[in-house]
Order: sequence, then C-alpha cells, then structure tokens
Amino acid sequence: MKYPKLREIKEAVTALIQGPYTTKFPFAPHTPAPNFRGKPIPDEKECIGCGACALVCPATAIEIIDDKAAASRELIWHYDLCIFCGQCERLCTTEKGVKLSNTEFDLATSDRKTLFSGIKKELIMCQMCDEIIAPKDQILWTAKKLEHMAFGNYMVFSALLNNLGIAKFVSKFGVSAVKRLDFFKVLCPKCRRQSHLIDEYGDSHFESAK
Ligand code: SF4
Ligand code: SF4
Repeated sequence: MKYPKLREIKEAVTALIQGPYTTKFPFAPHTPAPNFRGKPIPDEKECIGCGACALVCPATAIEIIDDKAAASRELIWHYDLCIFCGQCERLCTTEKGVKLSNTEFDLATSDRKTLFSGIKKELIMCQMCDEIIAPKDQILWTAKKLEHMAFGNYMVFSALLNNLGIAKFVSKFGVSAVKRLDFFKVLCPKCRRQSHLIDEYGDSHFESAK
C-alpha cells in the first residue's frame, strides 16, 4: 500500500482551509498574471503598417488589405483565429505597434463579426506606375532611423521632400515612359531602375537590361 506524500497532505489541508485554487470568474472579476497573453491590441500611432507581424503570425490571424485606388492599407487582427502566441508583439518592427493585453481576455461572443481590430495607413505609391511602395509611416520611420544617411536613398529622400510639402508630384497613372527627369521622383524599384537606364537620347534600355 502506498502512503500519501507529505506535500499532498499539506495541499489537501491548505485547500480545506483556504478553499479551492480556481477563481470565481465569470461571476467575479479575475486578475490574470502579469505576463498573461490576452487580446493583441494594435496601436494606431506606433504601428507603421509594415506588415511584418502578418508574416510571422502562425495562425494567419492578421489580414492586410491594400487599396491601390485609395492609397491605403488596412491591417486587421482576427481574434477568432488568433492563438494568443504573442509573436506579433515580440517581432513587431517598432516593438510598440501591437501589445497583448493582460486584462482583455474574455472574448466569448455569439457574433464572430465583432472579433477584430483594425487600423488604416496611408500608402506611398510610385509616381510613374502607381505601384505600392510602402506605407508612408514606414518610410518616415525608416528615415528617422537612418538619420543623415536617409539622404543617400533617393526614394526615402524624395518621400521626405513630399512629406515636407517641398516637392509635390502628380501621379501619372497609366503613363509608362519613364524619363531621366523622373530620377528624383518617388518611384517603385522597377521604375527607379528604368529611370537609371535612360540614355541621353531619351531611349530606355530597360527591356534589354532585364
Ligand atoms: S509596426 Fe508592428 S504591428 Fe505594425 S504592421 Fe509592423 S510589425 Fe505589425
Ligand atoms: S498573438 Fe499570435 S496568433 Fe494572435 S495575431 Fe499575434 S501572432 Fe497571430
């Protein structure tokens, strides 16, 4: 016959005196442990819309919807898919774009359509072909990180000039003939390469250089 260990007897006596360990939630409020992983809450101000969190989300719970016509990106956290692993918070580019709440965890509902949070970001588009380059906040955040070295990158430099209102260009949607003059515009990598390959006669060597 096996005798109960002293530790088990101690636990049984403690439970008899103090009551069971389980909390009274949902009949009484529950305070989770400090490192509890609850609902991921995006921060509109700190998030730059880069989409890195969506790439690392193992449950594909973060959706990115790009609207080229409106030049905007929407990032949506779907809580009915989220497994609360914390990867989006851990690997966020700015380290502050999304935080897992340790107080909001009771997400039970009969209406799954309410189980999401979303934020919107303005996109910077190529001024020649209107292809998406990156969210404006991401470029400005990168420029801030690079400090004076940002001026060595034409695209970041041009985006900064645009943001300051010093250089305003009108997008030429549908116009594909990139010229040497377009060198200092905000261009996507494809048009940037094309603008480098225009010769002094205005002929593009883009196709032959592929
Ligand atoms: S800044 Fe962070 S939260 Fe925002 S899109 Fe990038 S990785 Fe996601
Ligand atoms: S906590 Fe995990 S599953 Fe939930 S959105 Fe973030 S990365 Fe995806």
